[in-house]
Amino acid sequence: MSRLAVERRLVEIADELGDLQYDMGPIRPPNEGGGHSLLIRATRNCPWRLCAFCYGTPYNREKFERRPVEEVKRDIDCVKDITDLLYEASQLLGLGGAIDMRVARSLISINPALAHSHSFVNAFMWIAHGGRTVFIQDADSLIIKTHELAEIVRYILEVFPQVERITSYARSRTIYSKKLEELKELREAGLRRLHIGLETGDDELLKYVNKGVTAQQHIEAGRKAIEAGLELSLYVMPGLGGKKWWRQHALNTAKVLNEINPHYVRMRTFVPKPGTPLYQEYVEGAFQLLSPHECLREIKLLVENLEIEGRLCFDHFINPCFKGNIPIFRQSYEGYKLPEEKDVILKTIEEALEVDESQHRWTRELVGTPYI
Ligand code: SF4
Repeated sequence: MSRLAVERRLVEIADELGDLQYDMGPIRPPNEGGGHSLLIRATRNCPWRLCAFCYGTPYNREKFERRPVEEVKRDIDCVKDITDLLYEASQLLGLGGAIDMRVARSLISINPALAHSHSFVNAFMWIAHGGRTVFIQDADSLIIKTHELAEIVRYILEVFPQVERITSYARSRTIYSKKLEELKELREAGLRRLHIGLETGDDELLKYVNKGVTAQQHIEAGRKAIEAGLELSLYVMPGLGGKKWWRQHALNTAKVLNEINPHYVRMRTFVPKPGTPLYQEYVEGAFQLLSPHECLREIKLLVENLEIEGRLCFDHFINPCFKGNIPIFRQSYEGYKLPEEKDVILKTIEEALEVDESQHRWTRELVGTPYI
């Protein structure tokens, strides 16, 4: 191909890429971020929208929608078209099919709008990182018919056979309502991990924050998912019970986690979020946040009572920090292995408790910041 023909084709490719768009939801777990995971949206928004600390605000409280399977498949085809064009551009640029920043820079220099195209950026980053993980959005994908979600999962693997891990958010209440056979069907289709907001194992607190699930339902849902062969990543909110319920929050959460024995527990310290009922209570003084030492004591009580064999992770900046946002705990996505590293966590807490509270970051400092 002549140089002129190559340049003409690259212009065509950059234009075509600008027209290729697929739907994408606003959030995903941090370990699915950084461009590592392809985001495929099976539903839009949250079907519950009533948890007092969240209220569906990550989705702007927009109405929940199920997407037709054919529409989701078209999105997957769209990603395939984008990645095919990226490979072609790489060949034309003499890079032998390698997808890296040189390909992105060349295409963006031709069509600057690509730098602002969420679809281009997500698909490019995903394939540049090896194209191995996919996250299905939004808040509770398992609420759609099991055979439909299984069809979507199978289609992802058919179009992208190199994919090694497909994960999704789910509500415990939804998993609780599914039959074991349905979860097994999803596992067999290729779904591998569920991210579930447990928040607390205390029934009084679950009711107070309107989670729509009981501790027993959390337990049965978690056990069923594990029995079906799915990996479980459960999110817990230190501080959610405030000064009133911190002790029962810690003890009952440990109890529920022990009953489930999940693969991962991910800590997400509670920070009141504007637009939610719990924020309103905080502003009115009805809800009192824990101080840094109180929050650490709550986590200590939880950890002391934990008997799981999974990993405990503090993989988010909202977890306890010293001033200057210096994290107290290890921040990796793999966290601490339990029970082997239980003493390491407890020692870390003891040392942090020796540091005066004035040298800690207080949760109130995070209220209203753009990332909350
Ligand atoms: S189910 Fe999840 S997304 Fe929906 S309101 Fe509760 S915490 Fe928010």
